[in-house]
Amino acid sequence: MTLSPSPEGHSVSAQIVWAAVVLAICLAVVAVVSVSWAMGRIDDRALGEQRQTIEVALFEARARLAADQAATTVTLEEVASETEELDRRLTTALGHDRAYILAPDGKVLRASVDGHYAGKIFTLADSFVLQPIIDRLRLRIARAAFDDPSLRSNDAAGILALRTVGFADSGQGFVSIRPMTSLSDDEAIDDHLLISIKLIDQTMLHDIGKQFGIANIRRVAHPSSVGWLPILNWEGATLTYLAWTPAKPAQALLGEAAPALITMLAMVGVAMAALLVWLRRTSLTMEASRAHATYFALHDPLTGLANRALFETRLRQAKDYEFLAETKVLLISVDIDRFKEINDSWGHAAGDQLLREVAKRLMIEMPEEATVARLGGDEFAIIHPGILSEGQARWICQRLVQYTRTPLTIGSERINVTLSLGAALEKGDEVTPEEILRRADVALYAAKLAGRDGFALYSPDMDREKRERRTLEIELRNALLTGEGLHLLYQPIHGSLSSKIAGAEALIRWMHPTRGLLSPDHFIALAEECDIIDQLGEWVLREACRFAVSSDLPRIAVNVSPVQFHNARLAERILAILVETGLAPDRLEVEITEGVLLQNSTQTQEILATLRQAGVSIALDDFGTGYASISYLRSYAVDKLKIDKSYSQLVGTDPVVGHIVRLIVETARALGMSVTAEGVENQDQRRKLTSMGCTYLQGYFFARPLSPDDMRDAFSRNMKTGIDQKLA
Ligand code: C2E
Ligand code: MG
Ligand code: MG
Repeated sequence: MTLSPSPEGHSVSAQIVWAAVVLAICLAVVAVVSVSWAMGRIDDRALGEQRQTIEVALFEARARLAADQAATTVTLEEVASETEELDRRLTTALGHDRAYILAPDGKVLRASVDGHYAGKIFTLADSFVLQPIIDRLRLRIARAAFDDPSLRSNDAAGILALRTVGFADSGQGFVSIRPMTSLSDDEAIDDHLLISIKLIDQTMLHDIGKQFGIANIRRVAHPSSVGWLPILNWEGATLTYLAWTPAKPAQALLGEAAPALITMLAMVGVAMAALLVWLRRTSLTMEASRAHATYFALHDPLTGLANRALFETRLRQAKDYEFLAETKVLLISVDIDRFKEINDSWGHAAGDQLLREVAKRLMIEMPEEATVARLGGDEFAIIHPGILSEGQARWICQRLVQYTRTPLTIGSERINVTLSLGAALEKGDEVTPEEILRRADVALYAAKLAGRDGFALYSPDMDREKRERRTLEIELRNALLTGEGLHLLYQPIHGSLSSKIAGAEALIRWMHPTRGLLSPDHFIALAEECDIIDQLGEWVLREACRFAVSSDLPRIAVNVSPVQFHNARLAERILAILVETGLAPDRLEVEITEGVLLQNSTQTQEILATLRQAGVSIALDDFGTGYASISYLRSYAVDKLKIDKSYSQLVGTDPVVGHIVRLIVETARALGMSVTAEGVENQDQRRKLTSMGCTYLQGYFFARPLSPDDMRDAFSRNMKTGIDQKLA
């Protein structure tokens, strides 16, 4: 029925926060992936460099073997010597592992192993490996000598065999074979070959590792997942693999930087979390304020009902229901009866409470698909789509009228609240929303005219009636301008005991050119509605005062509408007319209704006080029909109570009414007021009301309202006879 701040708002803020969280996660993932990718690249490059370093180190070791060998000179004498001096010089002194000296016929002249003499044979591990290399080298040397016979064997010293080989004992190493050289000019030695072997053993790998800072270089049978290098023989076959522990500088760096990084990440995390919390709070606040703004843009802050803007939207949407079935939209204009009086008498806070209470009741009574709106002041409207029949519409209106009739408690007071409803039942695609609203208002007007506390369903006749009222309004304005047709009748007011005419009440009549004689009930409310009551009231007062001056009537009573009291200058105007017509103030009685007292404003009090001070008396008319309680009589200075004719007419038949009248009379006496009983129609009523203590009596029993001349006559007759014939 009405909108409340939307929970959708929360999902938007949740979406923002989720988006931020996802973004943060994405950024974190990208950062982690980038860093690990960069670390991988750095570590890969380091691994490559290590591999290259080991390759270079091995290459250099092999080259050094050949160079060391070339620099080694041996004499045949040394070869034959029995000391191990030569063995040391050929192996341990150069860092080689084994060495052999071969005679031209291929026999081993001397084998040296690790600085010791090892006989005149190849070790078992070497013989098979070395023989083919020796054969090839010899072949190459022979070819070179053949190509150039001038070459001495020694000149073939540049011819050498330098190989990487795998030995029979599953070791690997470098072998360098070349013709021997001697410092002396010993040609005989040229035909001998010197074989030097350097093993790729753990000592060599350890030295390389130590020199180049590579950890744990070792031989392995199979390539490892990281850090490996194949050792190939001179034919390109893999002899073994080297493995080592990769350096991973990036990881090491990360490890070192870890505490700083973790601290930094934690700080970023905290900052991100704080940012998220702030973001969520801010977006929630923004959404809440947006929801608030939307809510208040579409709702009445006092009652929480839809406001005019939302009402108009819903009214336009209402016709969509009609596609569901052959239904119509029911629009109900709601008005709280006498809201202004209640608001004025109990104050604005009570008025607000009343509006809220009525809004609540309307909401409870209406189904979900209906929209209840407050259009302003005490003006409510209801859109009820999907109505199938006029009967259903009437039933809904009837229920509303009945339901809201329940008394309301405001403060310590219980007041009867009634509603007037105007309803229009239309097809939304045939009648514009504006027209539906207009029709409901026309019906509301009719409901008010029919006496309020009820409803009226729009019919085209109502338009005619309204038009007629509009015409009547124009005619009344004209009549006031020209004075044509308006006149006063006077109804005498008798003393109850003496039956002397104590005064007369001026009652307005309008002789309408076409409608005939109209009673005030037909046009006073109209004059009040169209703001000409002040003008009309002054006209009545002037006429009545003039009549009173022209007669000997002790007092003339003039009715003053509650609406006239809205004019702060009312007392001033009345006193001015008294001066203008020359009527003594104490001959004028102003009749006010309870509605005037209910206004309970300082202005009203001041007007009444000014009039009383000037000598004008105040009568409270139609007492007992409105909301005024006895307490009002204390706070307002009133001279007379006029008991409403509804009591006078029941006083003979209803004992309860008798009690009420007695109570009123007693209270009035206690407050120093006189009491007039209106509407006395028969002798019985007259007697009872007199016996109950009413001071004055007025009614058809004595006289109907009379023309000025008839009034004068009646008065002079009453003066002469002193007693009315009827009273005899
Ligand atoms: P009211 O001031 O209470 O006037 C008494 C009404 O009761 C008059 O009706 C009068 O004709 C009628 N009445 C008098 N005796 C009897 C009776 O025995 N039985 C019945 N049934 N009715 C009786 P009227 O003249 O039609 O006036 C109706 C109301 O219109 C007045 O009620 C008064 O409130 C208002 N009114 C009349 N003239 C003026 C006026 O000049 N200015 C204002 N503001 N209101 C006026
Ligand atoms: Mg009156
Ligand atoms: Mg009256």
